[in-house]
Amino acid sequence: MPDAAPSPDAQASIATFDALVIGAGFAGLYALHLLRNQQGLKVRVLEAADGVGGTWYWNRYPGARCDSESWSYCFQFDDALVQEWTWSERYPRQPEILRYLNHVADRYDLRRDIAFSTRVTGARFDEASDRWVVTTDRGERLAAPFLITAVGCLSAANIPDIPGLADFRGRWVHTGEWPHEGVDFRGKRVGMIGTGSTGIQAAPVIAEEAAQLTVFQRTPNYSVPAQNHPLDDAFRARKKAEWPVLRRLMRSNTNGHPYTISERDTFSVSEEERRAAYAQAWDQGGLSFRATFRDMMVNKAANDEASAYIRERIRAIVKDPRTAELLTAFDHPFATKRPPIDTGYFETFNRDNVRLVDIRATPIERIAADGIVIGGETIPLDIIVFATGFDAMTGPLLKLGIAGPGGRTLAEAWAEGPRTYLGLGVEGFPNLFTVTGPGSPSVLTNMPVAIEQHVEWIASAIAWARANRVARIEATGEAARNWTAHVNEVAERTLYPTAKSSWYLGANIPGKPRVFMPYLGGLGRYREICDEVAASGYRGFAVTPLRG
Ligand code: FAD
Ligand code: NAP
Repeated sequence: MPDAAPSPDAQASIATFDALVIGAGFAGLYALHLLRNQQGLKVRVLEAADGVGGTWYWNRYPGARCDSESWSYCFQFDDALVQEWTWSERYPRQPEILRYLNHVADRYDLRRDIAFSTRVTGARFDEASDRWVVTTDRGERLAAPFLITAVGCLSAANIPDIPGLADFRGRWVHTGEWPHEGVDFRGKRVGMIGTGSTGIQAAPVIAEEAAQLTVFQRTPNYSVPAQNHPLDDAFRARKKAEWPVLRRLMRSNTNGHPYTISERDTFSVSEEERRAAYAQAWDQGGLSFRATFRDMMVNKAANDEASAYIRERIRAIVKDPRTAELLTAFDHPFATKRPPIDTGYFETFNRDNVRLVDIRATPIERIAADGIVIGGETIPLDIIVFATGFDAMTGPLLKLGIAGPGGRTLAEAWAEGPRTYLGLGVEGFPNLFTVTGPGSPSVLTNMPVAIEQHVEWIASAIAWARANRVARIEATGEAARNWTAHVNEVAERTLYPTAKSSWYLGANIPGKPRVFMPYLGGLGRYREICDEVAASGYRGFAVTPLRG
């Protein structure tokens, strides 16, 4: 429930804590658990929503599911929690994941230290007291030596600036800010802009309910079937029994998912074997299609083989050849943009009430009172769904209004793109820790595993700083420069930067600097680097002792 409005006194005074955490998704919940329940610190979590869950609180659009396997898309830090929770499906729907996160909040008694319906509007480092002073949209001020941003990589909705939106007489919604009461599509003419993971999940479900669905596609997207299904007791029991081994695998491999990347190269096998491997991965479904051959993301010819196979499978599904052509006119190698997985996406285009419109060839001119205008034609619409993604990774951080010593803002520091040390610390911003920040493996992984690693590292760093009477711990310029260069070098060795319209590069947001943001060196190796940094007494961080 929302907190009561602050009193005038509360507005004037500053509440003080040992640490402040922004966000109550996976990251913020775990940060609170570690810092308060394990270290005994006085912690306050600030959360814009009126409940926990983050991504799973906001993304209530039809068809919303995870596409990590349910039994791996969860906290791993407590075996008892793993053993007691029961997932219903391979890829559960949003309400089930939100239920899980609410269970976590209750199980570890987290709610009492979370201020809901409280958006952080500013965070300024006070040099005299070596504390962050945070301001909120409720007029409160809170201070703590340590500030942890757990604001998520995909929490700032991107609503494109299409002329005329204000004139639209129908209803419009963004998938990442979906109304809690739902949207009634019955009998409605619906236009959906965007064919990323979200649009691909939403289209089949909207099409079943709406009178007419028009999908506006700018860039065709690959997708592999999810092959979702209910889980049975025997499967669940087996995974729980194997948990120690699976956990070790997820914590040490490249992507935190419970599968292993093949050791075979694409052209080391015959064409027949290659096709059999793709067919098996397709039938098995899910994100592990990427793992069929180990050179898929570094060798263009290898990737072309996988792409050709996917194209062929999609063409076999979609009956209208022109639509099939539009859906498979890929302009980037497979998986260089985050690959969706789907349940009946391509089949949806065989329905009489679904139309695909190519806005790459003929861009949207404007939104009119009664629909979307394209090529001089108005496509009449009652509802527009923006499945247009997020200002990813840097967006939620820059919206916090962070200013370090001397009043230098994070926006100024990152004018040419984000620069971090390990995606955890930023030069010029002492005692600020960014969970899954740019420069970390984060969005390339099964995220709860990456989040746990980050939060554990940050909690240890704070414990170390407190034990060693440290006033400020701050990434050095040299460490941040070297790490950012390393992140770029690793990316350049792969095919990922060749996807020019990817949000990994910031390319989905007009004016955003084009920098490949996530770290491609692998979660296992990255964990080792972070552990080495901690063991060395925080190499690459400058440390200032407490005064007096
Ligand atoms: P979030 O869950 O995004 O939580 C951040 C919180 O910070 C939000 O509640 C937000 O309200 C709050 N916040 C932000 N700014 C402020 C502010 N200024 N003041 C106060 N509060 C603020 N990852 C996977 O690995 N597998 C998946 O299958 C998967 N599925 C996904 C499906 C969707 C639809 C989306 C959008 C993402 C998916 N992801 C998936 C990525 C997902 O974001 C992460 O897995 C994970 O949920 C992130 O948790 P988090 O706590 O870091 O951030
Ligand atoms: P996205 O991948 O960024 O896709 C946005 C779509 O909107 C793209 O098709 C994009 O076209 C289009 N678009 C953006 N701006 C546009 C404009 N101005 N005009 C026309 N089209 C425009 O966003 P998303 O689908 O919400 O997914 C974002 C990320 O969230 C995913 O990559 C994934 O990490 C996560 N996610 C995960 C799941 C899951 O795991 N179950 C589900 C949903 C989301 P272009 O490609 O041409 O830019």
